[in-house]
Amino acid sequence: MSKTPTRVFFLASEADPFVKVGGLGDVAGSLPRALNRLVDDNSLKQVDIRLAIPFHNSISQTRYSLKKVASFSVPHASGPLAAEAYLTSLGGMPVYLIAGAPITSANSVYSSDWGFDAHKYIFFSLACLELARHLNWAPDILHANDWHTAAAVYQLYLNRGADPFFAKTATILGIHNLPYLGTAGSIPLGAFGLPPAADPRLPDWARHLPLPLGLLGADQLVPVSPTYADEILTPEFGSGLEGFLLTRKETITGILNGIDLEQWNPVSDLYLPTNFTLGEFELRKANKIALQHELGLAVNHQGLPIPLLAMITRMDYQKGVDIALAGLEQLVRDSRTNKIPWQAIILGTGLPELEEATRDFELRHPDRLRAVLRFDAPLSHRIYGGADALLMPSRYEPCGLAQMIAMRYGCVPVACATGGLRDTIIDPGDEAAGTGFLFSLPSQESMVNALRRTLQAYSSPERWQAIQLRGMQQDYSWEKSAHQYFELYRSLLN
Ligand code: ADP
Repeated sequence: MSKTPTRVFFLASEADPFVKVGGLGDVAGSLPRALNRLVDDNSLKQVDIRLAIPFHNSISQTRYSLKKVASFSVPHASGPLAAEAYLTSLGGMPVYLIAGAPITSANSVYSSDWGFDAHKYIFFSLACLELARHLNWAPDILHANDWHTAAAVYQLYLNRGADPFFAKTATILGIHNLPYLGTAGSIPLGAFGLPPAADPRLPDWARHLPLPLGLLGADQLVPVSPTYADEILTPEFGSGLEGFLLTRKETITGILNGIDLEQWNPVSDLYLPTNFTLGEFELRKANKIALQHELGLAVNHQGLPIPLLAMITRMDYQKGVDIALAGLEQLVRDSRTNKIPWQAIILGTGLPELEEATRDFELRHPDRLRAVLRFDAPLSHRIYGGADALLMPSRYEPCGLAQMIAMRYGCVPVACATGGLRDTIIDPGDEAAGTGFLFSLPSQESMVNALRRTLQAYSSPERWQAIQLRGMQQDYSWEKSAHQYFELYRSLLN
């Protein structure tokens, strides 16, 4: 087998710590670095990986050392569009920030103007290919993610046969969120010279949208959990593409995401008032009390601790914020549960109507809920490190990182058994061997049943702590997944 490291070009719309909106940012900030660390038995590097993200306006110009490494253009129907690439690094891995008018004229990473976003991300996707050519660095693998970078995959699918530079480049498309297809991508795709697909397996409506075209063109598709890989083949989760995806079943491999164990480490987390370890788990209590003080919540009820539930989430129907509110409302109203004390914190930002509903709940039940409607990374750490349980009533969840982070911090997940939530949370029912609580349907009733079980378990401190400690001992490191990706790269190259 060749000794030269596999060259991988990893494209994403966001990557922590440069810019992060959601889990994709976590993944793109940590998976490439985990791959970059892989070495063989002789300590030789196995992957030469480079990451490219758009140079969003929100990325600090001064925080990173940046070197302009290329100026080039991307062909467009209105005339060539100028692009520039700036090189920086992340833990020794080269990172390119790509600038150009479609990117720098945007106010946010994602907007509600789909046509604008499509133009921006197709420009970015094609600029990445031009950059590789400009640097004379032909990747063995182009690893794109979601609709934002799917156009790069499709461009190679259409043209690499006649393009000696990319002739040997294999393509992977990571599926982090299938329903986001790149709506309104049709006109920009055409303007960038990418025609609709002719393949009859794709439904008509999908033949001119970035994600379906990437799904058609990629050599390998990687949904971010094994369960999600199965789910997207069904009408319920397939976004109308399930029939097409079934024709590609042999090229679909689910690989679970990991979390960055350095960034998310209760032993050394600088945002936590009190660090704690498995061995000194009692210390964690101070974080809960600090959080309750910070948010103006009572610490005890009749001398006993009060279960503190939390959500940290994008405010979107996918995440079931409405289901959580309805479930909590039922706990308050139902005479069987309305005497049970509990508190909740919801940290999130997104759809105005869901933010409004959360704020409204807080106004009606100020002793129960705190609504913190913003993106606040430091507070998210304090919640993971202090709250008792994390609610994730997701309607679908390709992988989900929040539940893994929560478990690492001794915060018990209570989640709908879908996608990666099902693959990462162990709930053996009444047996005392679980790491969390799963419920089968994204419904108020199903969630309330799980909340009752959760509160019941909480009332037995020994049982509760055993669940917390088991969660903390799970291995959600990236190393396992990085090896799986590496094997996949190798299989494609062979
Ligand atoms: P998704 O990618 O679908 O948004 P994930 O669970 O995979 O969901 O990842 C969400 C990530 O974003 C987690 O790291 C979570 O802590 C973080 N996050 C979400 N909302 C907020 C917020 N309002 N403030 C801080 N962090 C947040």
